[in-house]
Parts: sequence; C-alpha cells; structure tokens
Amino acid sequence: MVDRNSTNPEPGPVIGRLAPSPTGSLHLGHAHAFVLAWWQARSRGGLVRLRMEDLDAGRANQQHVDQSLRDLEWLGLDWDGPMLRQSERLEPIREVAYSLHRSGLAYACCCSRSDVRQALAAPHAGEDEPVYPGTCRGRFADLRQAERQCGAPVGLRFAVDSREFRFHDSIHGECRHRLDANPGDFLILRRDRTPAYQLSVVVDDAFQGVTDVVRGADLLDSTARQIALLRALNLPEPSYHHVPLIVDTEGRRLAKRDNSRSLTALRDAGIDPRQVISWVARNCGLQVPSRVGANEVVSSFTLANVTPSPIECRIDDWYR
Ligand code: GLU
Repeated sequence: MVDRNSTNPEPGPVIGRLAPSPTGSLHLGHAHAFVLAWWQARSRGGLVRLRMEDLDAGRANQQHVDQSLRDLEWLGLDWDGPMLRQSERLEPIREVAYSLHRSGLAYACCCSRSDVRQALAAPHAGEDEPVYPGTCRGRFADLRQAERQCGAPVGLRFAVDSREFRFHDSIHGECRHRLDANPGDFLILRRDRTPAYQLSVVVDDAFQGVTDVVRGADLLDSTARQIALLRALNLPEPSYHHVPLIVDTEGRRLAKRDNSRSLTALRDAGIDPRQVISWVARNCGLQVPSRVGANEVVSSFTLANVTPSPIECRIDDWYR
C-alpha cells in the first residue's frame, strides 16, 4: 500500500519535484518546466524531490539517467534527499493496482498490446489515445478466471464514470474533464505487470510527499485521471501548475528526437547555462540580466505572470 506516513502533513512545507523520464536527451522544454518547478518550491522555502521515471524498460537506460543528472546540475538545480528510481518501486506500485482491483475500482483486461503500450509513457498532447470501448469491463469474476479465459497474463484498468471532473490549475484556471469521453477506462497495470504512468506518478507523488506539481501543459490532459486515482486511494491532491509548452518556429512541441535544442547540444556548443535560466525567467515576465543563475532568481520568482500560451523557442541569439 502507499506509505501514508511519508506524505506531507498539513500545514507543511511545499514539496516540489523534478520527474524526468530518462528515455532521451532533455531539451529546452524540459529545462523550462524543471527550472519553474524548482523556483516554485525554492521561492516558498520548499523542498525539491528528484524522481527518475524509468519504467519504460525498452527506452530508459543508465546513459540517459546520467545525462539527465548532468543537465540538471548544469542548470544549477539541486534536490533534497536521494534520487528515487521508479524501477525500484515496482512492487509497492503494483500492490496499489491490485488493491484497486480488490476494492472493485479496477478490472482485469486482456486487450491488445498496442493499447497497453500506449499506457506506459506519459501521454503528451497531440498523441492520441483511443477511447477504450469497455470490452473487458464486467467480463471476469476475478483475476484467476481472467487469466484462464485469456490464456495469458492480464492487465488492470481503472473504471471511470460519467461525472465531470473539475480541478483548479494555477495557470489554466478552472478545468473540466469527462473521463468517460477521454480516454475511458484507463490502464493502471500492463499485462507484463509494469505499472502504467498514470498510476505510478500518483503513487510516487504521494510517497515523496509532493504538494505541488509543476510540469508541461501537455500533461494537463492526464490530470483528471490522476485526481480520480488520488481520490480512489484517499490520497492528498497536490496543487497543479501546468506551464506553457515550448514550441519550435513552426509551432511544434519540442521532442526528444530533435537534438538541436537538447541541453547536451547547448552545453557542447559552449552556451552558458545562465542564458537558459535568463530565458526561462524572462518567459515568465521577470526582469533579469541576460545571464543569471537559478539561485539569483528565487527571491523574485512568481508564477503570477505566466499565461497558458505556448512559447516559441528562438535561441539563435545565444550563439552570437
Ligand atoms: N516523466 C514525465 C515526462 O518526462 C513527467 C511526468 C509528470 O511530470 O507528471 O514526461
């Protein structure tokens, strides 16, 4: 079960988190979200937790973990306590999935592998997830029967209802979401017994006592799912702050496969990390010099002037 003793008692300190997926090079979009997450916590005297979301065994590797750590250090971001690797938390997260099944809130599912694969990674905006048609809902009396009938290990899906979810995001305001329309009953455990992103993020945010989730707006669409799980598990709901996406000159979200704006490429090109920090600060309306350290901005930081609109990334000036 979730370790509730590690959650943050009220009133307590702000606890933010940096949660990279070590599946490729971090780029300026990640830097933007991480620096804001760090300032959001540090400017309130809060703690910052680090979590490697390395459940995608096919894509996550040690090289990317090391590279992510180097990138964070290059940006001047630190964290409190040891790094948590989700791959070392498989059993407790799985146990939460089974507890939802035991209480009738999740059901066994043996639907296709491609459905299941999609549940593994954090679904970013623009990556369509088909609405699950409910094929396996109410189909099996218990896990054993499901496995017998499917002739293979089964996954677990969280059963959603038609209620409208309302939640507050400090940047996007009041948000509404119907889970039955998007994405329908969603996977919390894959057939290979790997926990899906939606469940693992919720369990580990609670485990790390996270009070404030600052991340890219592409994950706004996941928030209702995560709140549904938090409520089902009777866990505290963090405050949400979905920061604007960073897009290229054609308006496309930066992607890990596009290496030109990777932090490693910038570092290799001799870019001063204080230029990156200044760019992030100016994007949220702060008046800072063209080179500034992350620490120097903490005392003047506020999310108040941040709007939801995507921010175009123009970095050519940095090379002059
Ligand atoms: N690890 C996820 C990603 O890099 C972020 C998950 C989150 O912040 O909730 O896309």
